[in-house]
Amino acid sequence: MEIIGDLKKEFAEGKSPSGDRVKDFASKLFPVETVVNVHYKLLVKNNLLGNSVAMDGRPNVGIQKFIASSSGQKGFLVKETEEEKSIYKWKEGQFTEADRELSSLWRTVTTDEQVLIRLKQSLKGCVPDKIKDFDELNMIVNNHLASPDKQQAILLALIQNYDINPAIGFEILSKWGWAGKPLISQFAPYAFHCLRVDTLFLFGLSTGLIGTRATNRVDLEYLYYQPFGNIFTSNDKVHKNLAPLLLRDDQKFIVGTELKQGLKLIVDFLANLDPKSVSQFKNEPPIINESLVFQLWKEFFGYPQTSNWERKISDSEQEMMKRKADEFIQAVENNSIDSVLSDNAEFVVRKSYLSKNDPCYCGSGKRITDCCLPEDKFNEILRKQNEKKNK
Ligand SMILES: [Zn+2]
Repeated sequence: MEIIGDLKKEFAEGKSPSGDRVKDFASKLFPVETVVNVHYKLLVKNNLLGNSVAMDGRPNVGIQKFIASSSGQKGFLVKETEEEKSIYKWKEGQFTEADRELSSLWRTVTTDEQVLIRLKQSLKGCVPDKIKDFDELNMIVNNHLASPDKQQAILLALIQNYDINPAIGFEILSKWGWAGKPLISQFAPYAFHCLRVDTLFLFGLSTGLIGTRATNRVDLEYLYYQPFGNIFTSNDKVHKNLAPLLLRDDQKFIVGTELKQGLKLIVDFLANLDPKSVSQFKNEPPIINESLVFQLWKEFFGYPQTSNWERKISDSEQEMMKRKADEFIQAVENNSIDSVLSDNAEFVVRKSYLSKNDPCYCGSGKRITDCCLPEDKFNEILRKQNEKKNK
């Protein structure tokens, strides 16, 4: 959204952003092993409608369909988001083709300014004149949002601010009424999280604790996604102040510059190794005690003592794993089955695209066509895929 905002500004000034710049932006996003979270507005709506949204550090992904593999295991195929589709086109330099998708995303960005204005109105008379620090801000916001006589106003603000259409808004209000008008924090914990972010920002802004320079609302959206990770890192001033207030007990906030230092130690370490040894550290960091990255791996994954990272996989095990992977990939072609609770799913398939300019999947850091998949082989796979598509 931030990139789109930047590009939009250039368009407004009558400049059209160069294809190279768009490509450059895009190439930094979505390496092959990542997954994209569902847009927060959709999650807020679903949550208010009574669907639970996991806030335990896992991403919330859209589900294209539920599938069963040939041996009867059940899983699902991850849905590709609109944002992903646009970015993949940008990667290929097809900027104009993405215009339509882009403009629909833009609308969301522009209307966001209204959110603060409306929220401000709904909070009239509630904001104190002066707040001494962020701890006090947090306390005041929590008290405000827990006040029983404000719950209906809070729910209405959510429905308006997150672009929920009136019919669905009415359904939500009825559900809330039938449930005995519970606290919104219990009724819809994820929607409540987003509202807490907005309120912290707004109270902070109106009391001068957060400077007006930092009024970019798009920056707040990073915090909406905070429940879906384990570690949140940023150098942004508003993030540095607000993110620590929103952490779960098992989450951590890391200042961006500190993470960069930790990463630099790894880069320096890898620079002295040959490409084969570099690949060894594709899925795990080298053990460098001073590196924050290693420390976090130790803390969050018990790396390396309690894990089986060191375990050697035998040829037959490797063969079995490959067969199993093929079985799951094949399952995508099957008809969809009845839904499976996500915690009961036995496998997940996510489609991803590699372009010639992407870094190689082996982790060498080299371009894919300069590494494991030479250009002629890459083109051969591409040709076969296109043939299949045309059929
Ligand atoms: Zn490679």
